Amino acid sequence: MTFLSATLDRVKPSPTIVVTTKAAELKAAGRDVIGLGAGEPDFDTPEHIQEAGKAAIESGKTRYTAVDGVPELKQAICDKFKRDNGLNYEPSQVTVGAGGKQVLYNAFMATLNAGDEVIIPAPYWVSYPDMVLLAGGEPVVIEATLKNQFKIMPDQLRAAITPKTKWFLFNSPSNPTGAGYSWEELKALTDVLVEFPHVWVITDDMYEHLAFGDFKFCTPAQLEPKLYNRTLTVNGVSKAYAMTGWRIGYAAGPEMLIKAMRKVQSQSTSNPSSIGQYAAVEALNGPQDFLADNAKLFERRRDLVVDALNACPGITCPRPEGAFYVYPSIAGCIGKTTSNGVLIETDKDFATALLEDTGVAVVFGAAFGVSPNFRVSYATSDADLTEACARIRTFCDGLK
Ligand code: PLP
Repeated sequence: MTFLSATLDRVKPSPTIVVTTKAAELKAAGRDVIGLGAGEPDFDTPEHIQEAGKAAIESGKTRYTAVDGVPELKQAICDKFKRDNGLNYEPSQVTVGAGGKQVLYNAFMATLNAGDEVIIPAPYWVSYPDMVLLAGGEPVVIEATLKNQFKIMPDQLRAAITPKTKWFLFNSPSNPTGAGYSWEELKALTDVLVEFPHVWVITDDMYEHLAFGDFKFCTPAQLEPKLYNRTLTVNGVSKAYAMTGWRIGYAAGPEMLIKAMRKVQSQSTSNPSSIGQYAAVEALNGPQDFLADNAKLFERRRDLVVDALNACPGITCPRPEGAFYVYPSIAGCIGKTTSNGVLIETDKDFATALLEDTGVAVVFGAAFGVSPNFRVSYATSDADLTEACARIRTFCDGLK
C-alpha cells in the first residue's frame, strides 16, 4: 500500500513549472531573462479597489463570513450579470470562492461520479483536465485547429457527446489562445447542446472584459435561454480588475448546484478572504470605464506581438479576439537545429532552447494539449515585448 492517494497518480504536475523553474534558475544566475509566461495583468489593482480593501480591514470586516460570500458581494454579482450579460440571477443562485479556480473545482467535486465525462476543447487552460481527474471524472478532449483559429466546430462537439457526458466546458476568450467565439460561432455550439438535455455547460468567462476590436463577448446562458437551467456561468475579478492575489471568483447557476458547491466549500476552505470580498464589491459596483482602456492597451500589444512573431521564419501566429495570450504554431521550426546544435523535435525542445539561448521564457504547447506551439502572455511592457520578439526572431533566423 502506498502512502499517497491513488487519485494523485491520475494527475500530472503542472508542465508549466518546467519552464518557470528554469527561468527562475537562469535569473538567479544573473541572466537577462524576459518572462512571457505570467497569466496576470502587469499593473496594480486600481486605487479605489485597494481603498475598499483597506477600509474593510479598518472597519473590522476581518472575521469569518458566510461560506460562499457576503450578501453585498452576491448582490453586486447579480447586478453585474444583469448589467453586462442581460442575465437574471438571485443571490441564492450565486457562489463566491477563492478565485475562479476554486469555483470550477467546487463544481466538479459537487457533480462528478466515477466515469462521468467532461468535454474540454483544446488548447485548454492547464488546470481543466487535471481538476476533472482529481474530482474522479474523465476529461474528453476535442482539438481546435489553427485552421479554425483555435475554435471547435459544432460537429466536433456533437461527436464527443456520449450518454456519460456531464459537462461541456467552454472558455472564450481563451487561455491559452485568446480565441473568442462570435455570437454566430457560439450559437452553432449551443444549438448542438440544446439537442442533448443531459449535458450541462460550464462557461469560464474570466476574460470577458479583454475583448478587442469588433469582437463582442457573449456567454451561453445569455445567448440561448434554453440552456439557462443547466449552465454554470463562472467569472471573477482576477484578470479584469488586476486582482489575481485577492483570490475572488464567482459563479451563478441553478440553486441546486450552487447549494452543492457551497457544501464542498464549507468542508474545505470556508469563506474566501473577507477583505478580498469587500474589495470585489467595489470592483463590481465602482467605475467600470478603465476596463475599456485596459482592453485597448492589450489590443495594441496583441498587434505588436502578432506582427513581430509572424515575421519570424517558421512561426505562424493567428490574431485572436481577446485575453492577453497568443498561441503561435512552430510547425515550421520542427526538425531544425539551433545555432548551438540542438535539434528541435518538440515544442518543449523549442521553449527550452529559446530560454537557454536568448533568455525568453514562454510556455510550450504540450502543456495546453495542442502542439507544436507555444504560449506568449503579452501582459508585460512594450519594451520587454519588443525586445523578446527581437530575440525570438534572431533565434528563428539561426535555425538550420
Ligand atoms: N480560468 C482561466 C481560463 C484562467 O486563465 C484562470 C487563471 O489563469 C482562471 C480561470 C483562474 O482564475 P483565478 O485567479 O480567479 O482563480
